[in-house]
Amino acid sequence: MKRHLKYFTLSLCTFLLSAGQASVLMTTLPLPGLQTSAAVAAPSPNAEPGGPILVITTTSDPFSNYYAEILRNEGLNTFSISDISSVSSEMLANYDVVILAKMTLSPAQVTMLSNWAASGGNLIAMRPDKQLSTLLGLTDTASTLSNGYLLVDTSKAPGSGIVNQTIQFYDTADRYTLNGATSLATLYANATAATSNPAVTLRSVGSSGGQVAAFTYDLARSVVYTRQGNPAWAGQERDGLPLIRSSDLFFGAASNDPQPDWIDLNKVAIPQADEQQRLLANLILTMNLDKKPLPRFWYFPHGKKAVVLMTGDDHANGGTIARFNQYKAMSPAGCSVEDWECVRGTSYIFLNTPITNAQASAFTGDGFEVGLHVNTNCANYTPTSLETFYAQQHRTFSNLFPSVPVSPTQRHHCIAWSDWASGFKVELNHGIRLDTNYYFWPPNWVGNRPGFMTGSGMPMRVADLDGTFIDVYQAATQMTDESGQQYPFTVNTLLDRALGAEGYYGVFTVNASFVA
Ligand SMILES: [Zn+2]
Repeated sequence: MKRHLKYFTLSLCTFLLSAGQASVLMTTLPLPGLQTSAAVAAPSPNAEPGGPILVITTTSDPFSNYYAEILRNEGLNTFSISDISSVSSEMLANYDVVILAKMTLSPAQVTMLSNWAASGGNLIAMRPDKQLSTLLGLTDTASTLSNGYLLVDTSKAPGSGIVNQTIQFYDTADRYTLNGATSLATLYANATAATSNPAVTLRSVGSSGGQVAAFTYDLARSVVYTRQGNPAWAGQERDGLPLIRSSDLFFGAASNDPQPDWIDLNKVAIPQADEQQRLLANLILTMNLDKKPLPRFWYFPHGKKAVVLMTGDDHANGGTIARFNQYKAMSPAGCSVEDWECVRGTSYIFLNTPITNAQASAFTGDGFEVGLHVNTNCANYTPTSLETFYAQQHRTFSNLFPSVPVSPTQRHHCIAWSDWASGFKVELNHGIRLDTNYYFWPPNWVGNRPGFMTGSGMPMRVADLDGTFIDVYQAATQMTDESGQQYPFTVNTLLDRALGAEGYYGVFTVNASFVA
């Protein structure tokens, strides 16, 4: 148990278990790790393990803290965090790499960072203060590009292994021309129209091995908005299908407000946010090579490249028991749940699902998860009404299943998702740490395209509208039995791209309903 907990604190990979296949984990919404983590204090999203990387944040922008989550996901568990107000030249001397979140700097802070880089430091600035332009080798054009695309130069070391197609970013980029820097990625006005402005740059400074890099947009904002959708559409009914769902945050063609989809479905095959995070990780590693190699954890246990998370909703159909027994029969003889070798799954059940406390408890003890399928009656909710649904239904669940621990994961019935984040906040209030409500649907929009609605295959923590962490992981449901997706085409395609040259690694969550 301790081993799993440790993985959990390092990165999310923890949720996953091994079935012993070559490169794919066939798993469940992971019981051992989650139950362990629920039993002890959850690690803070702002925890800093310490090491040669310094993340400089600012209290004026909570998104600045999200770089810590990106580093954890990328396995770069060797960082400290400091607010800019506490950063001094003496402090900087202790670090090899600085990630400077988007912020306004004083002239003295510009000088301090410039001197540190000139003396050998490796600075990566996110949508940098214009006062850093000279240091970064850039000339400001006083223009911007919002919610465009970028193309990574895969011939340069930091771009090695990154997708060689244009991908979307969701923020405002400042448009610069090169003035001493090298371009590592180019801004595109749309999927095919290149600009003359860089998206990511690198420059050597001084004679001590110092390097300075810039993302001309705020990677943290872009990652959050890629994963969680268009904040301007929160609470909007867009797809014309009754009930506001997570997919409405991505659906463009609303009849009263036709706009391009938030996710360009021509790019849905690509985990666009993950690729940009990976570019940052590559940049850190390559910039620091002349000082020291940095340790990096792989995404998933045992070097696996993909994980299939088995979940299903049981609307009192009573299919849970037979399916769980099927999973047990499919598991290797003598497999260890503790070592994540067995096929296991999660069932989100209605309160009137025909399963007894003894049965549910036995499955739970065997490594399965039996959780409440919170039901808003397929209606939109307010933060207050959702809290009431959770409180009442959890109370009933505990009365019916007194031997079953409260599940630390959740999917709402009908995928009700009425605003940006109250779903996450109410979940956290009820001990839930992992959410599967982001759901690739409806069928005519999905168009049988295997892919990533949220631009990510990585379970990562979510952010409120202002960027404040909410300590709940988002594991998007990419495969369902009600999205018009063909099988095994869909799962095979996702897994082939994870195991193949594309390297689109991920946790692929399934909703396979439990039908008796
Ligand atoms: Zn349901």
